[in-house]
Amino acid sequence: MTGADIKELVVLSGKGGTGKTSIVGSFAELAKDAVFCDCDVDAANLGLLLRPETKEAVEFRVSSKANIDGDVCTGCGECEEICRFGAIRSRKTSANGNVEETGDAQETANGNTEEIADMSGKEALNVTRKGSRANEISPDQDRRPKFEVDLMSCEGCSLCERICPVNAITMKEVVSGHWYVSDSRHGPLIHARLEPGEENSGRLVAAVRQKAREIAQQQGKSLIITDGPPGIGCPVIASLSGADVALIVTEPTLSGIHDLERVVQVCKHFDVPVMVCINRWDINPGNTSVIQKTSEEAGHKVIGLVPYDDTVPKAMVNGLAVTAYDCPAGNSIKGIWQKIEREMQTQARK
Ligand code: SF4
Ligand code: SF4
Repeated sequence: MTGADIKELVVLSGKGGTGKTSIVGSFAELAKDAVFCDCDVDAANLGLLLRPETKEAVEFRVSSKANIDGDVCTGCGECEEICRFGAIRSRKTSANGNVEETGDAQETANGNTEEIADMSGKEALNVTRKGSRANEISPDQDRRPKFEVDLMSCEGCSLCERICPVNAITMKEVVSGHWYVSDSRHGPLIHARLEPGEENSGRLVAAVRQKAREIAQQQGKSLIITDGPPGIGCPVIASLSGADVALIVTEPTLSGIHDLERVVQVCKHFDVPVMVCINRWDINPGNTSVIQKTSEEAGHKVIGLVPYDDTVPKAMVNGLAVTAYDCPAGNSIKGIWQKIEREMQTQARK
Protein backbone atom coordinates (compact mmCIF):
# COMPACT_ATOMS: atom_id res chain seq x y z
CA MET A 1 0.00 0.00 0.00
CA THR A 2 1.60 3.30 -1.06
CA GLY A 3 0.77 6.67 0.44
CA ALA A 4 -1.15 7.58 -2.72
CA ASP A 5 -3.42 4.52 -2.36
CA ILE A 6 -4.59 5.62 1.07
CA LYS A 7 -7.66 7.87 1.09
CA GLU A 8 -8.56 10.16 3.93
CA LEU A 9 -12.04 11.24 4.96
CA VAL A 10 -12.10 14.10 7.45
CA VAL A 11 -15.29 14.78 9.36
CA LEU A 12 -15.79 18.40 10.43
CA SER A 13 -18.57 20.36 12.02
CA GLY A 14 -17.68 24.06 12.12
CA LYS A 15 -19.03 24.09 15.68
CA GLY A 16 -19.21 21.75 18.63
CA GLY A 17 -22.31 19.80 19.59
CA THR A 18 -23.56 18.78 16.14
CA GLY A 19 -23.11 15.06 16.83
CA LYS A 20 -19.98 14.72 14.71
CA THR A 21 -18.17 12.27 16.99
CA SER A 22 -21.28 10.06 17.35
CA ILE A 23 -21.39 9.82 13.56
CA VAL A 24 -17.65 9.08 13.27
CA GLY A 25 -18.07 6.40 15.96
CA SER A 26 -20.77 4.82 13.80
CA PHE A 27 -18.53 4.97 10.72
CA ALA A 28 -15.87 3.15 12.78
CA GLU A 29 -18.31 0.31 13.32
CA LEU A 30 -19.25 0.19 9.64
CA ALA A 31 -15.80 0.62 8.06
CA LYS A 32 -13.97 -2.61 7.29
CA ASP A 33 -10.44 -1.49 6.59
CA ALA A 34 -9.67 1.83 8.23
CA VAL A 35 -7.33 3.63 10.58
CA PHE A 36 -9.02 6.14 12.89
CA CYS A 37 -7.58 9.46 13.76
CA ASP A 38 -8.94 11.79 16.47
CA CYS A 39 -7.70 15.28 15.65
CA ASP A 40 -9.74 17.03 18.33
CA VAL A 41 -6.61 17.23 20.47
CA ASP A 42 -8.14 19.71 22.91
CA ALA A 43 -11.01 17.39 23.81
CA ALA A 44 -10.51 14.01 22.20
CA ASN A 45 -13.50 11.76 22.85
CA LEU A 46 -13.69 9.31 19.95
CA GLY A 47 -11.98 6.89 22.33
CA LEU A 48 -15.13 6.81 24.48
CA LEU A 49 -16.78 4.86 21.67
CA LEU A 50 -13.75 2.97 20.35
CA ARG A 51 -12.42 1.96 23.79
CA PRO A 52 -8.74 2.04 22.82
CA GLU A 53 -5.91 0.16 24.45
CA THR A 54 -2.83 2.35 24.27
CA LYS A 55 0.27 0.71 22.76
CA GLU A 56 2.54 3.72 22.44
CA ALA A 57 2.60 7.15 24.09
CA VAL A 58 4.91 9.84 22.71
CA GLU A 59 5.73 13.18 24.30
CA PHE A 60 4.97 16.22 22.17
CA ARG A 61 7.50 18.98 22.82
CA VAL A 62 7.26 22.17 20.82
CA SER A 63 7.20 25.04 23.26
CA SER A 64 9.59 26.56 25.75
CA LYS A 65 8.76 28.35 28.97
CA ALA A 66 10.74 30.66 31.21
CA ASN A 67 12.71 29.10 34.03
CA ILE A 68 14.29 31.19 36.81
CA ASP A 69 17.53 30.08 38.47
CA GLY A 70 16.94 31.01 42.10
CA ASP A 71 20.69 30.96 42.85
CA VAL A 72 21.37 33.66 40.25
CA CYS A 73 18.24 35.81 40.62
CA THR A 74 18.88 39.00 42.58
CA GLY A 75 15.19 39.67 43.04
CA CYS A 76 15.13 42.95 41.14
CA GLY A 77 11.56 42.32 39.94
CA GLU A 78 12.10 43.56 36.37
CA CYS A 79 10.79 40.33 34.87
CA GLU A 80 7.58 40.52 36.88
CA GLU A 81 7.02 44.07 35.67
CA ILE A 82 7.69 43.34 32.02
CA CYS A 83 5.69 40.14 31.61
CA ARG A 84 2.38 41.25 30.14
CA PHE A 85 0.85 37.84 30.71
CA GLY A 86 1.27 38.07 34.48
CA ALA A 87 3.20 34.80 34.41
CA ILE A 88 5.94 35.86 36.83
CA ARG A 89 4.99 36.30 40.43
CA SER A 90 6.81 37.04 43.62
CA ARG A 91 6.60 34.07 45.96
CA LYS A 92 6.54 36.46 48.87
CA THR A 93 3.40 38.18 47.66
CA SER A 94 1.70 35.30 45.92
CA ALA A 95 1.28 33.34 49.14
CA ASN A 96 -0.70 34.62 52.11
CA GLY A 97 1.96 36.67 53.81
CA ASN A 98 5.45 35.21 54.07
CA VAL A 99 4.49 31.58 54.13
CA GLU A 100 7.62 30.17 52.52
CA GLU A 101 10.01 32.26 54.48
CA THR A 102 8.13 31.59 57.68
CA GLY A 103 8.17 27.86 57.02
CA ASP A 104 11.90 27.97 56.41
CA ALA A 105 12.38 29.97 59.57
CA GLN A 106 10.44 27.48 61.66
CA GLU A 107 12.75 24.68 60.54
CA THR A 108 15.88 26.55 61.57
CA ALA A 109 14.80 28.44 64.65
CA ASN A 110 16.07 27.23 68.02
CA GLY A 111 13.15 26.29 70.24
CA ASN A 112 10.28 28.80 69.85
CA THR A 113 8.42 26.66 67.29
CA GLU A 114 5.02 26.87 68.94
CA GLU A 115 5.40 30.56 69.57
CA ILE A 116 6.34 31.18 65.97
CA ALA A 117 3.43 29.16 64.69
CA ASP A 118 1.05 31.58 66.40
CA MET A 119 2.65 34.68 64.89
CA SER A 120 2.05 36.40 61.60
CA GLY A 121 4.66 35.78 58.92
CA LYS A 122 6.47 39.05 59.50
CA GLU A 123 6.68 38.62 63.28
CA ALA A 124 7.88 35.06 62.90
CA LEU A 125 10.60 36.15 60.49
CA ASN A 126 11.86 38.72 62.97
CA VAL A 127 12.04 36.11 65.73
CA THR A 128 14.01 33.70 63.58
CA ARG A 129 16.52 36.36 62.65
CA LYS A 130 17.49 36.26 66.29
CA GLY A 131 17.92 32.47 66.05
CA SER A 132 20.67 30.28 64.71
CA ARG A 133 20.61 31.57 61.12
CA ALA A 134 20.73 35.24 62.02
CA ASN A 135 24.48 35.35 61.44
CA GLU A 136 24.37 33.41 58.18
CA ILE A 137 21.72 35.38 56.28
CA SER A 138 21.93 39.11 55.90
CA PRO A 139 18.68 41.07 56.30
CA ASP A 140 18.94 42.06 52.63
CA GLN A 141 19.17 38.47 51.48
CA ASP A 142 16.45 37.44 53.88
CA ARG A 143 14.02 39.96 52.43
CA ARG A 144 15.01 39.23 48.87
CA PRO A 145 11.88 38.48 46.87
CA LYS A 146 12.09 35.27 44.91
CA PHE A 147 10.14 34.94 41.72
CA GLU A 148 8.50 32.00 40.09
CA VAL A 149 6.95 31.33 36.71
CA ASP A 150 3.37 30.17 36.36
CA LEU A 151 3.83 27.75 33.46
CA MET A 152 0.13 27.84 32.54
CA SER A 153 0.31 31.62 32.00
CA CYS A 154 3.75 31.77 30.36
CA GLU A 155 3.41 32.30 26.60
CA GLY A 156 7.08 31.57 25.94
CA CYS A 157 7.79 34.99 24.39
CA SER A 158 11.30 34.99 26.03
CA LEU A 159 11.16 38.72 26.77
CA CYS A 160 12.03 38.12 30.42
CA GLU A 161 15.07 36.08 29.37
CA ARG A 162 16.30 39.01 27.32
CA ILE A 163 15.81 41.69 29.96
CA CYS A 164 17.07 39.88 33.07
CA PRO A 165 20.19 41.84 34.07
CA VAL A 166 21.96 38.81 35.55
CA ASN A 167 20.89 36.14 33.04
CA ALA A 168 18.94 34.23 35.66
CA ILE A 169 16.21 33.25 33.17
CA THR A 170 16.50 30.61 30.50
CA MET A 171 13.83 29.18 28.22
CA LYS A 172 13.29 25.47 28.80
CA GLU A 173 11.44 23.05 26.58
CA VAL A 174 8.28 21.64 28.16
CA VAL A 175 5.97 18.73 27.38
CA SER A 176 3.00 20.31 25.56
CA GLY A 177 1.05 17.09 25.22
CA HIS A 178 1.21 13.47 24.13
CA TRP A 179 0.07 11.50 21.15
CA TYR A 180 -0.92 7.88 21.35
CA VAL A 181 -1.11 4.84 19.11
CA SER A 182 -3.86 2.52 20.32
CA ASP A 183 -5.64 -0.61 19.24
CA SER A 184 -9.40 -0.42 19.29
CA ARG A 185 -12.15 -2.92 18.63
CA HIS A 186 -12.58 -1.41 15.13
CA GLY A 187 -8.93 -0.85 14.18
CA PRO A 188 -5.95 1.34 15.04
CA LEU A 189 -6.72 4.70 16.64
CA ILE A 190 -4.24 7.59 16.72
CA HIS A 191 -5.21 10.25 19.22
CA ALA A 192 -3.64 12.92 21.36
CA ARG A 193 -4.00 15.11 24.38
CA LEU A 194 -2.79 18.68 24.63
CA GLU A 195 -1.85 19.88 28.11
CA PRO A 196 -4.01 22.67 29.58
CA GLY A 197 -2.94 26.14 28.46
CA GLU A 198 -0.72 24.79 25.66
CA GLU A 199 -0.85 26.12 22.14
CA ASN A 200 0.45 24.57 18.91
CA SER A 201 -2.54 22.26 18.64
CA GLY A 202 -2.20 22.50 14.83
CA ARG A 203 1.26 20.95 15.05
CA LEU A 204 -0.04 18.18 17.30
CA VAL A 205 -2.83 17.50 14.79
CA ALA A 206 -0.22 17.29 12.02
CA ALA A 207 1.79 14.80 14.11
CA VAL A 208 -1.33 12.65 14.71
CA ARG A 209 -2.23 12.60 11.01
CA GLN A 210 1.32 11.78 10.00
CA LYS A 211 1.36 8.80 12.38
CA ALA A 212 -2.05 7.63 11.15
CA ARG A 213 -0.74 7.58 7.59
CA GLU A 214 2.36 5.63 8.63
CA ILE A 215 0.20 3.04 10.42
CA ALA A 216 -2.16 2.77 7.44
CA GLN A 217 0.81 2.14 5.18
CA GLN A 218 2.37 -0.44 7.52
CA GLN A 219 -0.89 -2.34 8.02
CA GLY A 220 -2.11 -2.10 4.43
CA LYS A 221 -5.21 -0.05 5.30
CA SER A 222 -6.77 1.88 2.45
CA LEU A 223 -8.73 4.46 4.43
CA ILE A 224 -8.12 6.96 7.23
CA ILE A 225 -11.20 8.36 8.95
CA THR A 226 -10.38 11.55 10.81
CA ASP A 227 -12.58 13.06 13.49
CA GLY A 228 -11.68 16.72 13.00
CA PRO A 229 -11.73 19.48 15.60
CA PRO A 230 -14.64 21.93 15.82
CA GLY A 231 -14.34 25.51 14.55
CA ILE A 232 -12.29 26.84 11.65
CA GLY A 233 -8.94 27.59 13.31
CA CYS A 234 -5.43 26.27 12.99
CA PRO A 235 -6.20 22.69 14.15
CA VAL A 236 -9.00 22.42 11.57
CA ILE A 237 -6.69 23.57 8.82
CA ALA A 238 -4.06 21.08 10.01
CA SER A 239 -6.62 18.26 9.91
CA LEU A 240 -8.00 19.22 6.52
CA SER A 241 -5.13 20.07 4.22
CA GLY A 242 -4.37 17.17 1.88
CA ALA A 243 -7.52 15.20 2.79
CA ASP A 244 -9.47 13.57 -0.06
CA VAL A 245 -13.01 14.38 1.07
CA ALA A 246 -14.55 16.41 3.90
CA LEU A 247 -17.89 15.46 5.41
CA ILE A 248 -19.42 18.36 7.29
CA VAL A 249 -21.92 17.43 9.97
CA THR A 250 -24.28 20.31 10.62
CA GLU A 251 -27.62 20.90 12.30
CA PRO A 252 -30.60 23.06 11.20
CA THR A 253 -30.06 25.93 13.61
CA LEU A 254 -29.00 29.49 12.81
CA SER A 255 -25.55 28.91 14.32
CA GLY A 256 -25.34 25.60 12.44
CA ILE A 257 -26.02 27.37 9.13
CA HIS A 258 -23.57 30.16 9.94
CA ASP A 259 -20.74 27.82 10.96
CA LEU A 260 -21.38 25.51 8.00
CA GLU A 261 -20.76 28.43 5.65
CA ARG A 262 -17.50 29.25 7.39
CA VAL A 263 -16.10 25.73 7.37
CA VAL A 264 -17.13 25.27 3.72
CA GLN A 265 -15.01 28.31 2.88
CA VAL A 266 -12.00 26.70 4.58
CA CYS A 267 -12.54 23.45 2.63
CA LYS A 268 -12.80 25.40 -0.63
CA HIS A 269 -9.58 27.21 0.15
CA PHE A 270 -7.76 23.90 0.51
CA ASP A 271 -9.55 22.45 -2.51
CA VAL A 272 -11.09 19.57 -0.54
CA PRO A 273 -14.43 18.29 -1.94
CA VAL A 274 -17.32 18.79 0.50
CA MET A 275 -20.24 16.55 1.41
CA VAL A 276 -22.86 17.64 3.92
CA CYS A 277 -24.86 15.65 6.45
CA ILE A 278 -27.67 17.34 8.41
CA ASN A 279 -28.05 15.86 11.86
CA ARG A 280 -31.38 16.11 13.73
CA TRP A 281 -32.82 17.53 10.50
CA ASP A 282 -36.42 17.30 11.75
CA ILE A 283 -35.98 19.74 14.66
CA ASN A 284 -36.33 22.53 12.08
CA PRO A 285 -37.38 21.35 8.58
CA GLY A 286 -37.38 24.96 7.31
CA ASN A 287 -33.71 25.47 8.14
CA THR A 288 -32.95 22.01 6.74
CA SER A 289 -34.42 23.16 3.40
CA VAL A 290 -32.24 26.28 3.51
CA ILE A 291 -29.10 24.17 4.05
CA GLN A 292 -30.07 21.77 1.25
CA LYS A 293 -30.74 24.60 -1.19
CA THR A 294 -27.59 26.60 -0.44
CA SER A 295 -25.41 23.48 -0.47
CA GLU A 296 -26.76 22.34 -3.83
CA GLU A 297 -26.31 25.84 -5.28
CA ALA A 298 -22.69 25.79 -4.10
CA GLY A 299 -22.17 22.33 -5.65
CA HIS A 300 -21.90 20.36 -2.39
CA LYS A 301 -23.75 17.08 -2.04
CA VAL A 302 -26.11 16.73 0.91
CA ILE A 303 -25.60 13.02 1.37
CA GLY A 304 -27.95 12.38 4.21
CA LEU A 305 -30.42 13.59 6.80
CA VAL A 306 -30.24 12.03 10.25
CA PRO A 307 -33.45 12.36 12.27
CA TYR A 308 -33.66 13.25 15.93
CA ASP A 309 -33.63 9.96 17.80
CA ASP A 310 -33.66 9.22 21.54
CA THR A 311 -31.52 6.15 20.84
CA VAL A 312 -28.48 8.39 20.19
CA PRO A 313 -27.98 9.50 23.84
CA LYS A 314 -28.85 5.97 24.98
CA ALA A 315 -26.09 4.57 22.73
CA MET A 316 -23.60 7.17 24.03
CA VAL A 317 -24.40 6.28 27.64
CA ASN A 318 -23.75 2.62 26.82
CA GLY A 319 -20.51 3.46 24.98
CA LEU A 320 -21.88 2.09 21.69
CA ALA A 321 -22.31 3.46 18.20
CA VAL A 322 -25.91 4.29 17.32
CA THR A 323 -25.57 1.97 14.33
CA ALA A 324 -25.43 -0.90 16.82
CA TYR A 325 -29.19 -0.33 17.28
CA ASP A 326 -32.01 -0.81 14.81
CA CYS A 327 -33.29 2.76 14.99
CA PRO A 328 -34.05 5.65 12.57
CA ALA A 329 -30.79 7.55 13.26
CA GLY A 330 -28.67 4.40 13.01
CA ASN A 331 -30.31 3.32 9.74
CA SER A 332 -29.86 6.78 8.28
CA ILE A 333 -26.13 6.79 9.18
CA LYS A 334 -25.76 3.35 7.52
CA GLY A 335 -27.17 4.84 4.31
CA ILE A 336 -24.77 7.79 4.55
CA TRP A 337 -21.83 5.43 5.02
CA GLN A 338 -22.73 3.54 1.83
CA LYS A 339 -22.71 6.82 -0.09
CA ILE A 340 -19.35 7.76 1.42
CA GLU A 341 -17.84 4.42 0.44
CA ARG A 342 -18.98 5.01 -3.14
CA GLU A 343 -17.51 8.52 -3.07
CA MET A 344 -14.18 7.23 -1.71
CA GLN A 345 -14.06 4.61 -4.49
CA THR A 346 -14.62 7.39 -7.02
CA GLN A 347 -11.79 9.35 -5.43
CA ALA A 348 -9.55 6.26 -5.54
CA ARG A 349 -10.11 5.91 -9.29
CA LYS A 350 -9.02 9.51 -9.92
S1 SF4 B 1 14.91 36.64 37.33
FE1 SF4 B 1 16.20 38.35 36.69
S2 SF4 B 1 14.79 40.01 36.17
FE2 SF4 B 1 13.63 38.50 37.37
S3 SF4 B 1 13.77 39.19 39.50
FE3 SF4 B 1 15.44 37.75 39.18
S4 SF4 B 1 17.16 39.00 38.58
FE4 SF4 B 1 15.36 40.28 38.33
S1 SF4 C 1 8.61 34.06 28.52
FE1 SF4 C 1 7.25 35.83 28.17
S2 SF4 C 1 5.29 35.09 28.90
FE2 SF4 C 1 6.81 33.72 29.77
S3 SF4 C 1 7.28 34.55 31.75
FE3 SF4 C 1 8.75 35.42 30.32
S4 SF4 C 1 7.88 37.39 29.65
FE4 SF4 C 1 6.26 36.19 30.61
